[in-house]
Amino acid sequence: MSARQIKSGPLLGFVVLTALTQVGGLVYLIARWISVALSRRFEFSRARRWLTTTIGFCTFYGAVSVVVLPPLATALGRPPLPCSQATGQGVVPFTRLVCLLNRHYAAPPVHHLLAALAKHMDETHPGTVVAYLDASFALIDGFPLPPHLSHDDGLKIDLAFYYVDEQGHYQPATGRSPLGYWAFEQPRAQDPRPCANRNDLATLRWDMAFFGPLLKPMRLDELRTGEMLRWLAANAAKLSIDKMLLEPHLKARFGLKEPVIRFQGCRPARHDDHLHIAVNPTRAR
Ligand SMILES: [Zn+2]
Repeated sequence: MSARQIKSGPLLGFVVLTALTQVGGLVYLIARWISVALSRRFEFSRARRWLTTTIGFCTFYGAVSVVVLPPLATALGRPPLPCSQATGQGVVPFTRLVCLLNRHYAAPPVHHLLAALAKHMDETHPGTVVAYLDASFALIDGFPLPPHLSHDDGLKIDLAFYYVDEQGHYQPATGRSPLGYWAFEQPRAQDPRPCANRNDLATLRWDMAFFGPLLKPMRLDELRTGEMLRWLAANAAKLSIDKMLLEPHLKARFGLKEPVIRFQGCRPARHDDHLHIAVNPTRAR
């Protein structure tokens, strides 16, 4: 192994874990530093050093995630969103990965929005929950949550659409995609397609075709998804919603006219697999 490879391994680990979890990169470097120090002292084999780093990382990362971050982020104004169905009162992560990766921190106005939406959805369709996707990291305004560059202040939240199984039965907090992203709805024949026939090179509007085999045989629950979109749009000012990003074909399908629902343009990532909401607490109510 060359010196360059030896140095690039930890750097890559740091970058990837920071992008995924914010604190994971730093935790990894500490775990590795301890492992290397122990290895020098006790002459570990390479496999044993790797195992020590892994055990150290899991232990420290778990401790930081459970003991340090929730109270610290709360004190700094970005409490964690609920991670369990038992305590969430109708607000749940679409996948536990969101919590495991510490991507579930949000400012109080987002908590308020989700709680109000969950109450409304349960009242109109009993048993319906609100499944959230990526929110923000726990710490530091201006620190983006890759790949969502705007999720950097605790005021952005992505929500999953609702889905039914092949028999047409609502399935809580699940959908076609195991991640909640990249199960794109397609425009119907009469729907607007502002990005048709474009071949932008510099674009994030990817169709993620490779992800197709992982999608489950479910379909969009238009009843609940439409209810959620209409209620949020109608209550946008009260909930301090600055904007909601949705593809024009879905806005047309659900008969939405409110200007708060916007199209992100043809170069950013598509928004017909989830709903993006930006909250602005200084917005006049
Ligand atoms: Zn978003």
